[in-house]
Amino acid sequence: MLIDYTGKIVVVTGAARGIGRVLAERFEAEGARVVALDLAFGGDAVGELSLDCDVSDPASVAAAVASIDEMFGRIDVLVNNAGINVDGLVADLDPARFALALQVNVGGVFVMSQAVAPIMKRANGGRIINAASFAAIVPSIGSAAYAASKAAVVQFTRVLAGELGPWGITVNAYAPGMIPTAMNGFAELPDAAQSRLLDTLTIRRWGRPEDVADLLCFLGSDFAGYITGTLVDVSGGKLATQIPSRAYRAE
Ligand code: NAD
Repeated sequence: MLIDYTGKIVVVTGAARGIGRVLAERFEAEGARVVALDLAFGGDAVGELSLDCDVSDPASVAAAVASIDEMFGRIDVLVNNAGINVDGLVADLDPARFALALQVNVGGVFVMSQAVAPIMKRANGGRIINAASFAAIVPSIGSAAYAASKAAVVQFTRVLAGELGPWGITVNAYAPGMIPTAMNGFAELPDAAQSRLLDTLTIRRWGRPEDVADLLCFLGSDFAGYITGTLVDVSGGKLATQIPSRAYRAE
């Protein structure tokens, strides 16, 4: 058996750029009919249908999901990829920025899942896959808002998995490691700073959106029907041991 998305309806949020764009393109390459959602595509559409949608706004999500339901009549896979980074030490963090991180990163997952669940229940099946982060496992200094929001995604995932289990709908989260994108600017850091970050990895290279796409193709497929409520780490073994760089120095 091979993973086969022929005819499946896959919705990816935050798909205009970064990891989300690669996820949308990959599901399409695997045969799926892809609906891409983002704040704005600016004429640079992806997938069969691109819709402007703010995942943290229930009215915007309701309109987008109603259009998808009308056009396709079902949703097989929902990838809640959309997210923002809010950086800042707790001492200096603007409460409105803290609230925004929660509103988009976990609020968006909630609003999207709540809107899509009835469509999946109707079909007695589906896959919801949520972007958490390595920050939900080991957070960085200055990531209080972001890390708290991503840890909340993990716990939300477990609860939703329980609530949707009776319909055969699986709900999982994934924790990407360090993938250079516009969100984090890793690729633009000075060499020494890049090297220090890479020293935290067991597989000592930057992550690629394709690493996440490989995992999600599996999690969204028929092969993953007995996997639910989990957090899957796709971070190249970040801090799997305390000082992974020692193995490279010993080479
Ligand atoms: P990115 O900033 O390149 O892309 C995020 C996309 O989400 C953008 O297109 C943005 O417009 C969209 N978005 C933001 N707010 C939105 C909203 N309210 N409604 C709809 N769309 C919205 O970031 P990325 O690096 O591709 O990250 C994608 C996801 O992966 C995020 O959830 C991020 O937290 C997570 N993640 C990324 C990394 C990494 O190393 N890049 C690591 C851990 C987790």
